[in-house]
Amino acid sequence: MSLSVDTVRRLTEIVGPANVQHSPEERIAYSYDATAMLAHPPEAIVFVESTPQISDVMKLANTEGFKVVPRGSGTNLSGGTVPMENCVVLVTVKMDKILEIDPRNLTALVEPGVLTARIDEAANAHGLFYPPDPGSIKISTIGGNVAENSGGLRGLKYGVTRDYVLGLEVVLPTGELLRCGTKCVKDVAGYSLRDLFIGSEGTLGIVTRILLKLLPRPATRRTMLATFDAMTDAAETVSDIIAQKIIPCTLEFLDRTTIRCVEDYAKIGLPLDAEAILLMETDGHPVVVEEESTRMIELARAHHARDVRTAKDAAEAEKLTSARRSAFSALARVSPTTILEDATVPRSELAAMIAFIQQTAAKHQLRIGIFGHFGDGNLHPTFLCDERNPDEIKRVHTAFREIFEKAITLGGTITGEHGVGLAKKEFLPQLAGPTGMDVMRTLKRTLDPNNVLNPGKIFD
Ligand SMILES: Cc1cc2nc3c(=O)[nH]c(=O)nc-3n(C[C@H](O)[C@H](O)[C@H](O)COP(=O)(O)OP(=O)(O)OC[C@H]3O[C@@H](n4cnc5c(N)ncnc54)[C@H](O)[C@@H]3O)c2cc1C
Repeated sequence: MSLSVDTVRRLTEIVGPANVQHSPEERIAYSYDATAMLAHPPEAIVFVESTPQISDVMKLANTEGFKVVPRGSGTNLSGGTVPMENCVVLVTVKMDKILEIDPRNLTALVEPGVLTARIDEAANAHGLFYPPDPGSIKISTIGGNVAENSGGLRGLKYGVTRDYVLGLEVVLPTGELLRCGTKCVKDVAGYSLRDLFIGSEGTLGIVTRILLKLLPRPATRRTMLATFDAMTDAAETVSDIIAQKIIPCTLEFLDRTTIRCVEDYAKIGLPLDAEAILLMETDGHPVVVEEESTRMIELARAHHARDVRTAKDAAEAEKLTSARRSAFSALARVSPTTILEDATVPRSELAAMIAFIQQTAAKHQLRIGIFGHFGDGNLHPTFLCDERNPDEIKRVHTAFREIFEKAITLGGTITGEHGVGLAKKEFLPQLAGPTGMDVMRTLKRTLDPNNVLNPGKIFD
């Protein structure tokens, strides 16, 4: 361990002895996150309980020269919380209070360690709704969601985390406290600083409070599952639904490999011989839901859906939705290593991108499952492989390079929601260009002159 005894003592003074860990076993536990094949142990782990503690840790990092990696639940899929040399991992899960639900202004004020599902539960008690619902909603923190600008299954209609952040309290890398944003629906005073921190992957500041926008809860919801014998039919159903100016809250798909893995895992009764299933959900006023769901079923049938199942009640809807929510976990069971990406393309290019991914997997003799947010053009090609097989891993990396290049050629992006982190930083310059990279580096240097906060993420 390269932290001096004195530095550990001072960290202990800031957060208390119960909140500092540095045994070899504890360091291993915080050396990795949900990303495959990336790990490096931190020097120590500190659990913070207040904003002043975070501020003091950052001031100490600047004077003592150690690095700080903010961490919520560690469920990110881009290596965002994997430490580099000389790092302290700063965990926010003890800052887990919902400070306020304000039904008059439709807002919630929360600490960063609150699990995302709890926010919607608290909103629900007031007839309100917090829409962003990443697949990890029950385990990820809102601080992590803000730092990754996470999306979810309802993103098509309701947008992503950024669309719900009204204000932030942030500890800057140098330890100063910044507050930005208000409860006002309209607020254009100065640069939109909160937007700078949303999606900054813990590199520009540590979020300590979040003011969120809530919506009235939709009166009703209908969930349907359509089964197809051809992936192109599912893709065309999605294109047609959008072309008919219907914006459902959810349009998610699973391919054949994913369907089989999910069924084996969750026993939902999915058709094992289907090429694709499409999870469709519409919500809102009962009349609109009735009209939209009828039209969506017609469109799925017009594109040769073999079967369209409509959930009879909330319990069945939950069961059908769980088919999609459990996709990653189900795929992860079948091979030692699961490498999941989130290449994203304009919706019009979905069919082309899926065909390219399937061809690329076949060309490199790789096993792949594909699922994702069809309505957002956000795909999760997931390679099922074994990191102990270097030849296979080399082919996986070649395949991903080809997939990202294709996504960029089709007008898409290298990540729709998982962030760049360590995993995708080599691809960012191609997308951002030299000026874009320069602007990002200038921002980082300005806010973090000693490069102490989550170094090496997004770019070197
Ligand atoms: C099964 C599964 C399903 C998933 N489904 C989705 C999905 O549908 N959509 C989606 O977008 N993602 C999804 N993810 C990815 C992941 O859950 C999200 O990126 C989530 O937002 C991470 O939250 P976390 O609390 O785990 O953050 P962490 O993994 O701990 O951290 C993520 C990043 O945020 C930074 N960070 C954490 N807290 C703070 C803070 N308070 N201030 C500043 N920076 C901070 C970290 O440094 C890191 O860079 C999924 C992951 C899994 C394992």
